[in-house]
Amino acid sequence: MTDTAVTKPNLFHFTRLPRPTVDRADGIYLWDKTGRRYIDGSSGAVNVNIGHGNRAAIEAMRRQMDRVSFAYTIHFESEPALALARELAARLPEGLDRIYYVSGGSEAVEACLKLARQWAVATGQPERWKIIGRMPSYHGITVGSLGVTGDEVLTPAFTPIGKAMPLVPAPFVHRDRDNLSLEERGLRYADMLEQKIVEEGADSVLAFIMEPIGGAASAALVPPDSYFARIREICDRHGILLIHDEVMTGIGRTGKFLGGDHWNCRPDIVALSKGLSSGYAPLGAVAATEKVVGPVLEMGGFLHGHTYGGNPVATAAALAVLGEIDRLGLIDNATAMGAVLKGELEALTQRFPFVADVRGKGLLLGAELYADPVAKTPLPREWNANVRLIDLAFERGLIIYSRRVRGGPESDNFMVCPPLIVTAEQIGEIVAVLADTLQALAGELGL
Ligand code: PLP
Repeated sequence: MTDTAVTKPNLFHFTRLPRPTVDRADGIYLWDKTGRRYIDGSSGAVNVNIGHGNRAAIEAMRRQMDRVSFAYTIHFESEPALALARELAARLPEGLDRIYYVSGGSEAVEACLKLARQWAVATGQPERWKIIGRMPSYHGITVGSLGVTGDEVLTPAFTPIGKAMPLVPAPFVHRDRDNLSLEERGLRYADMLEQKIVEEGADSVLAFIMEPIGGAASAALVPPDSYFARIREICDRHGILLIHDEVMTGIGRTGKFLGGDHWNCRPDIVALSKGLSSGYAPLGAVAATEKVVGPVLEMGGFLHGHTYGGNPVATAAALAVLGEIDRLGLIDNATAMGAVLKGELEALTQRFPFVADVRGKGLLLGAELYADPVAKTPLPREWNANVRLIDLAFERGLIIYSRRVRGGPESDNFMVCPPLIVTAEQIGEIVAVLADTLQALAGELGL
């Protein structure tokens, strides 16, 4: 980290690192107050899908603010909120056309859980309350969303005030040592859900929540094709709702509108946020089917609501974001540039043998760091390779995402997820700095 931070003694964060103060941003770049430039190789928190400084988004927000910046959803609908709901329904898988707004990803997941629970009560199944998640996973930081998150540090820290739900292993199929094909392993992981359902008592299980492509917790982990259909079939057979957390994978990030669209998934409820407003305003949404929403509304309504949910300025920003995604062809660009970047990351594994298992789709790409990539031996935890990788990259003007897996097959990993506007030339720039960073990490850790 640089020492350019302006001290903010009364502001606190979840990390203790000093950080520079941001001054401006444009496209895939950010500048701090000293004039240093950073490549945003993580799109902020994998949310700035249309890039920084987009004029259409800024102007749409400005126009909306001139007319009305806030009207409480109990009193009024707003034009941008209505229009965005229509636009979302047109892009989402058929049937996922009932939209509910919140202000972020954790709130979206929280709303999914509550909607599912109310559906169970409304349909005469009050004994269903368990929501099965995966280990590792990340579904947010509120008490409810942490309860379905598989993280050996975050969830236990708050279990006394929340409820830790049952978890099944995420499909790290590339780490298994058996004679099965990847597709066979995919089925095996899906069947672990059924085993868990039976173990918990099928009548007590309400829903299963998963990210179609793993995000923060597993660095773009892509399950085998076989996994998806089997999961849907198991949920249907036991009358369990399937919730897809598309907070990170949604809105074009992976080269389809939703991550689950790669497999024509038909979840019952979907959580959206991040790329939805692309960082221009806080916004999240839940999309659900009439099968879920209908009974809840008949019973008297969804027992939920946030002051800022469906804010006119935030929904106006998101409408402009969807417009820009179409106008600039950003979903196709994510596919094309994702292929270029993935190829470059694979090339880096030749040069740096401690980097392996490149995976992901579109511009949600990740890889793992190993002491021995063949035996899949992790780097010693106390080396903090993930923290060093972030810092060495940051010092070189590149922002990437890196974590130690906390639960499940242990390793340090990283993700490279630039805005969907990225060009081939900019990918060259990202990869050059990344290579220099990996070289520095290798030198420092003796890899
Ligand atoms: N779900 C997933 C898959 C996420 O990646 C995140 C954030 O990283 C969240 C939920 C929580 O979103 P937020 O940070 O907006 O609360």
